[in-house]
Amino acid sequence: MPVNISAFEEINRKLSAYHAELVAVSKTKSKEDIQELYQQGQRDFGENYVQELVEKQESLPKDIRWHFIGHLQRNKAKYIVPFVHLIHGVDSLKLLKEINKQAVKTKGKVNCLLQVHIAQEETKFGFDEKELLEEIPLLKDYSMVNVLGLMGMATFTDDKDRLKLEFKRLKGMLDNCNASGNLTEPWSILSVGMSADYQLALEEGSTMVRIGSLLFGEKEY
Ligand SMILES: *Cc1c(COP(=O)(O)O)cnc(C)c1O
Repeated sequence: MPVNISAFEEINRKLSAYHAELVAVSKTKSKEDIQELYQQGQRDFGENYVQELVEKQESLPKDIRWHFIGHLQRNKAKYIVPFVHLIHGVDSLKLLKEINKQAVKTKGKVNCLLQVHIAQEETKFGFDEKELLEEIPLLKDYSMVNVLGLMGMATFTDDKDRLKLEFKRLKGMLDNCNASGNLTEPWSILSVGMSADYQLALEEGSTMVRIGSLLFGEKEY
């Protein structure tokens, strides 16, 4: 499946109006597909599986900024901490603690986003707002982790009102965290919006969209 260059250009046009960034989600896609988008200037790529990410990182250009957007198991953090640019889905303090421990070993700070639960579905991982505000003061114990903002996964639905509500809630949470008085640096990243809903997400305050199928076609399993 060739990369959809015209979709790539259109997405970039829309993103620049919002000063937002694109993470090209390349899970299950070939290294050739990634190279093709790389040649168009894309440098931020997102992967969901640790082993696949490690293999791709080893053989693709070193200036790619790799984002881990999947559910990270604690025992696998050590494989990606040495090179990852941003871990989006940190959904517990236990995981944050493990990332910090690995970062101490490799002596490099690791950028992370905390995943918050905004969807109706029970299965989506993440903090709720109360937990988030309670745990913010504890983050200073993990000095090798740089928390830069929040990540959310909306409900899988075509219901625009529902999506809008969830995006607004996520933005509200970011604002509340920033107003908590417990952050040393303001959080600036809101990672939300995928192929089907990224425009709506941008309208509601997203600063980083994660787009796969619009760029690379449907998933290949
Ligand atoms: C696969 C995936 C995406 C991209 O979804 P598309 O609908 O293909 O754009 C974004 N975020 C996460 C967490 C994903 O797993």
